[in-house]
Amino acid sequence: MPEPSSGEISVEAARARMLAGLPLCRSEATSLSAAQGRTLAEPIIASRDQPPFDASAMDGYAVAEGKLDGVFQVVGESAAGRPFAAPVREGEAVRIFTGAPVPAGCRVIVQERTTRNGATVIVEAHSPASRNVRSRGGDFRSGQVLLNAGARLDAWSLALAAATGQDVLRLAVRPRVAILSTGEEIVKAGRSATDAQIFDSNGPALAALVAEWGGVAIPLEPAKDDETAIAAAVAEVDCDLILTVGGASVGDHDLVKPALKRLGLNLDVETVRLRPGKPTWFGRLADGRRALGLPGNPASALVCAELFLRPLLLAWQGADPALPMQTARLAAPLPATGPREHWMRAKLSSSNGAVVATPFSDQDSSLIAVFAGADALVRRPAGAPAAALGDTVEIHRLHRL
Ligand code: AMP
Ligand code: MG
Repeated sequence: MPEPSSGEISVEAARARMLAGLPLCRSEATSLSAAQGRTLAEPIIASRDQPPFDASAMDGYAVAEGKLDGVFQVVGESAAGRPFAAPVREGEAVRIFTGAPVPAGCRVIVQERTTRNGATVIVEAHSPASRNVRSRGGDFRSGQVLLNAGARLDAWSLALAAATGQDVLRLAVRPRVAILSTGEEIVKAGRSATDAQIFDSNGPALAALVAEWGGVAIPLEPAKDDETAIAAAVAEVDCDLILTVGGASVGDHDLVKPALKRLGLNLDVETVRLRPGKPTWFGRLADGRRALGLPGNPASALVCAELFLRPLLLAWQGADPALPMQTARLAAPLPATGPREHWMRAKLSSSNGAVVATPFSDQDSSLIAVFAGADALVRRPAGAPAAALGDTVEIHRLHRL
């Protein structure tokens, strides 16, 4: 179905419009110790073999290929970091330890097959299954591409980067995201609030997600429902993206879009055929900054952050913006979906080795406690028929600790 040029569009179309023409972040040299969660701007290429020498896989004795059992003269020792430098002749053995360089032309007899007797060692007759040697370059070879540009760095990939000996990596600059909570009733946690006021839960949650997805969060003071105040709050902020939350809809007090129009906002997305999160909008300001407007209900704000903020931040850094999807079996039947794609909050468990999703019975998007207990979002396509217990559904796992 072709998408209309304005008005309500599908999640996929909205995401495509947001990502279209997004300029890539610049890159910067960054030390390995500050690289976690960041994205590579250039591939990591091995500059030498790993391991850089034939290494012993066992504690035991290195003996020259040929004679593999009987009595051997122990002529020295090779320990990790302290190789045995001389050649080893047939009938000689070198005491060796795991990770130590194996002398040229040797294999390693495991300690359990040997009996040491002063300057000699006796190796029992055996049919050796392995040389017990980790070959030079057996892990990776010099010149091999170990990680591609666009790879996001976690502990495992940092281990690979560090194993090459590089301590400075070329990374995408972190996109800067100004976060503005709006609403007459919104008060920062830690301040006093009347019974008519609500603490800002979205601001801190979005700041945490921005950091998780490699960005720099710039939290702003919450703004009242006032066009001038909203425009002033973001006018001078040095950032790539202005992320607003609340006031996104069409009510008398939903003033974020009109406020940003004063700064030259050009809308690419007006509303999305999505539940929760229909009022989500996106556009560009006259100065090139992007603006993403999320609805204020906490579940709407965070679902939309997963669906739109995450791909924006990853694409900016040159990483794959696709939302990772898996499947699960439903632990409860679900009604037919309406005309809007529905992303339901759910708990995951396992049953006979299969992943099982239990969507919460109350999907009200204002419920913070429900969202805080969710492990995943269940995606129900627009117009999907009712689903039965045991049916397979698509899920997106939330990153929970
Ligand atoms: P709005 O999108 O401004 O119409 O707000 C929808 C609902 O979300 C209202 O009940 C607001 O009080 C609530 N809300 C808006 N912003 C926040 C926020 N930053 N933190 C928590 N709740 C919010
Ligand atoms: Mg509001």
